[in-house]
Amino acid sequence: MEINWAELGFDYMKLPYRFIAHFKNGAWDSGQLTEDEFLHIHEGSTALHYGQQCFEGLKAYGRKDGKINLFRPDQNSARLNRSARRLLMPEVPEELFLTAIKQVVLANREFVPPYGTGATLYLRPLLIGVGPNIGVHAAPEYIFTVFCMPVGAYFKGGLTPTNFIVSDYDRAAPKGTGAAKVGGNYAASLLPGEEAKARNFSDCIYLDPETHTKIEEVGSANFFGITQDEQFVTPKSPSILPSITKYSLLFLAKERLGLETLEEDVPINNLARFKEAGACGTAAVISPIGGIQYEDKFHVFYSESEVGPVTQKLYDELTGIQFGDKPAPTGWIITVD
Ligand SMILES: *Cc1c(COP(=O)(O)O)cnc(C)c1O
Repeated sequence: MEINWAELGFDYMKLPYRFIAHFKNGAWDSGQLTEDEFLHIHEGSTALHYGQQCFEGLKAYGRKDGKINLFRPDQNSARLNRSARRLLMPEVPEELFLTAIKQVVLANREFVPPYGTGATLYLRPLLIGVGPNIGVHAAPEYIFTVFCMPVGAYFKGGLTPTNFIVSDYDRAAPKGTGAAKVGGNYAASLLPGEEAKARNFSDCIYLDPETHTKIEEVGSANFFGITQDEQFVTPKSPSILPSITKYSLLFLAKERLGLETLEEDVPINNLARFKEAGACGTAAVISPIGGIQYEDKFHVFYSESEVGPVTQKLYDELTGIQFGDKPAPTGWIITVD
């Protein structure tokens, strides 16, 4: 299989190996690598009927010295388990989670994009309720699986800004599952996302479901803005998915760039406060936001064609750490080999 690393988008690709573990009679087995990309699950599986499933997304980064970095996988493990508790699923022990990640990366080693290509190996851990069932309650059995594929930019353009539109739909309810990384939130976002793309926007921005006056997030990435006086601001809300990238940027903006950082309400009617804005997440990395369409107004931040200087610095710091070029804060990087 010949891969043009520079041309990769964010698309499925079948690689040789994935990891699968089963939870039965109250316990996880030790799991194993398999070449079978199909899951054989019972027709009564709660994952199919009642959305009892959650997932994660993290990346393996090819370093200059040929080794491979994982970025804060312990945080993905912790979040998967928070999602699992919200949906009444058994937690996946951190050790099983990390073993699965490392085994999948090493087994598919030749598909980890080389340093300098800009591409990475995207890992998708998935936890689903399975087994015979029809009533609305938790499943008797569970599958935990991790598969992976090389990916490039999530939003076309990478560090070239793209535009977003504020949706009238809600992504998640205030006391619903917005903070859990569950498929149901995404099912609800498919229609608004399609509508945004049909109007040539990269994706939509959701407002807080209670008042529809404050920015929540970007559907698959968190929002941040850089104010005119260089504060790093990101929304605070119980229905936002707590992005590991966002928390990493909050730390780096303060500790490495010396910016004041704020997690607070971000009113949609005061976008002029920001001289730069972006979407952040594992898949999106940092994607600069050129402009936001809200009702009949289109607000441009720094530029529709060029990334702003603070966003660029944050990007360089974050990706420098991920690829092993810059010193990482303690515990952020696990080198696979
Ligand atoms: C996964 C996800 C993000 C990004 O989180 P990271 O931990 O930074 O990858 C943002 N929003 C939603 C809805 C997500 O599912």
